[in-house]
Amino acid sequence: MLRRRRSRRRAPATPGGRGDLSVVERSASEPSMTDKPPLTLLIAAPRGFCAGVDRAIRIVELALERYGAPVYVRHEIVHNKFVVDSLKAKGAVFVPELDQVPDGVPVVFSAHGVPKAVPARAQERGLNYLDATCPLVSKVHRQAERLIERGRHILFVGHAGHPEVIGTFGQVPEGRMTLIETAADALAVAPADPDSLAFLTQTTLSVDDTSEIVAILRRRFPAISGPRSEDICYATSNRQAAVKAIAARCEAMLVIGSPNSSNSLRLVEVAEREGTKARLVGRGADIDFAWLEGVRTLGITAGASAPELLVREVVDTLAQRFAVAEEPIEGVEERMIFKLPAGLEAA
Ligand code: SF4
Repeated sequence: MLRRRRSRRRAPATPGGRGDLSVVERSASEPSMTDKPPLTLLIAAPRGFCAGVDRAIRIVELALERYGAPVYVRHEIVHNKFVVDSLKAKGAVFVPELDQVPDGVPVVFSAHGVPKAVPARAQERGLNYLDATCPLVSKVHRQAERLIERGRHILFVGHAGHPEVIGTFGQVPEGRMTLIETAADALAVAPADPDSLAFLTQTTLSVDDTSEIVAILRRRFPAISGPRSEDICYATSNRQAAVKAIAARCEAMLVIGSPNSSNSLRLVEVAEREGTKARLVGRGADIDFAWLEGVRTLGITAGASAPELLVREVVDTLAQRFAVAEEPIEGVEERMIFKLPAGLEAA
């Protein structure tokens, strides 16, 4: 009786399930767990969605519930293809510029923030707009305004062309902010008045690169003012620290995120600097199994705009080829929650 019941057990499909192969019943064509090479997964914690991304997506969803489709979104709401495609399926329409938003429809501004001219133009046109700028990005915008009021010239550490950088430059009059992308830029910059400088940073930078750049700026311009710590947000810092915590134990690392996601790209760099080969993957289908040849311990993490669902998808895809075992990783617990814009909470 006991033997018959045990013989019907199947290997668990869940990632990490190894099953008791001595009692698994399977057909001749079904690959057994013993046919698969073992793969230990170290899944970084924390990873994935941050409070700013969660809020931005919620704003689009609530706008769709409240106003019905279509709801226009200027720029990708967050830099993740899966998230954008899911919202498109619900009726969101993504456009690069406000000019492409027809009159009379609601429009949401992305989590990365927008230049002041954008809400001003929306107001002129009488558009109903919702600002999904992450409050931590808005905080940098207000810091920039205050520094300009105090007569400072701002050295802004960030990446050219990133929407957050464009949005922050758009908070101050032209010519009052200079972009510093690298340590070489910090060494070369020659401001007109070195005694009235300030620095600010993009929120999603590499913690290590930025501290090197800031150290150069402080050394070259002792009077420079700036935030007590850089403006790199809690989510970016925590995810980079989580990668560092596991990288030394991994032979390779997969970072789930889109190629235009700044914080995801930084996670790849952090792993590589720790000596671990790393790759960005959008989702399970992107895994290059040849690249994983011989790997027995694999790290997994996800950028702040990548949903947990994609982490599970990657694990499930790996489980089709490997006998995966997940090792629990303890990480910093994140409790940050940002309020929704006034008027949307009760939707
Ligand atoms: Fe806000 Fe940081 Fe998330 Fe960007 S990564 S949305 S700054 S919490």
